[in-house]
Amino acid sequence: MMQDYNGYNPGMFDANEIKKLSQEFENKTPQEIIQWAVTIFWPEIAMSSSFQTQSMPLLHMATRIKHDLPVFFLDTGYHFWETLMFREQISSEWKLNVIDLYRDERWEDFMHHRTRTLPLEDPSLCCFLHKVQPMQKALKDIKAWISGIRRDQTAVRAEANILELQDNGLLKVNPLLNWTKDEVKQYAQENNLPAHPLLEKGYRSVGCAPCTVAIGVNDDERTGRWAGRGKVECGLHTNMFENKDLTNLRSDFTLRLWKKTNHDDTP
Ligand code: SF4
Repeated sequence: MMQDYNGYNPGMFDANEIKKLSQEFENKTPQEIIQWAVTIFWPEIAMSSSFQTQSMPLLHMATRIKHDLPVFFLDTGYHFWETLMFREQISSEWKLNVIDLYRDERWEDFMHHRTRTLPLEDPSLCCFLHKVQPMQKALKDIKAWISGIRRDQTAVRAEANILELQDNGLLKVNPLLNWTKDEVKQYAQENNLPAHPLLEKGYRSVGCAPCTVAIGVNDDERTGRWAGRGKVECGLHTNMFENKDLTNLRSDFTLRLWKKTNHDDTP
């Protein structure tokens, strides 16, 4: 039986209590974890979704618990057309409260001649501009962020906890952390959830078009992301709040060159 948290002040959680709750939640269902988070943090809570096939179960269960839960969608400008249309379709049919996040406009000058090349030349910087920084900005206004990562996806994610208190005080909630890809698939089948249109073409994990390829049926689902480029994460789920600015990216050649020939008011 879970403690009744109605009226509980989120500011009362300290790191030890979060750790204890996180361990307790290892035996809870994703719906129980989401319900707890919404009860405690509403309206200062949101989820993020990439609108790919395996995102559908979390999106479905979370928005059935709270239909107007804000859903952050990172509109990087590099999505497949199918992803954008799927996002429109689901958002409209399920009446979701989707909030599109874009890169800071102060990067327009920097991106002017690099739009086509940056994802290939420097995917880490590209992900920072189009994913990490917009998400950081959106998360500043809330206290809890529901994310769909699972331990079976990558080695980094295998080390995650269900509740993670970030350095800036934001609580990251990972309700599906213990689910396997088969459980995700089973939930989708049982609830007759729609699939991303590219799934049938072999895109089992869909990110931005320049960084996603179709894969074989026996490959790990994230094999097709940044394939052959030694990158497995965009940065959203790896110490995002320990890199609040570009300090750690200043060795980047492209950025240094731009800063040298332009100005130094990096967003
Ligand atoms: S996934 Fe690729 S295109 Fe998308 S933001 Fe990252 S590097 Fe850029």
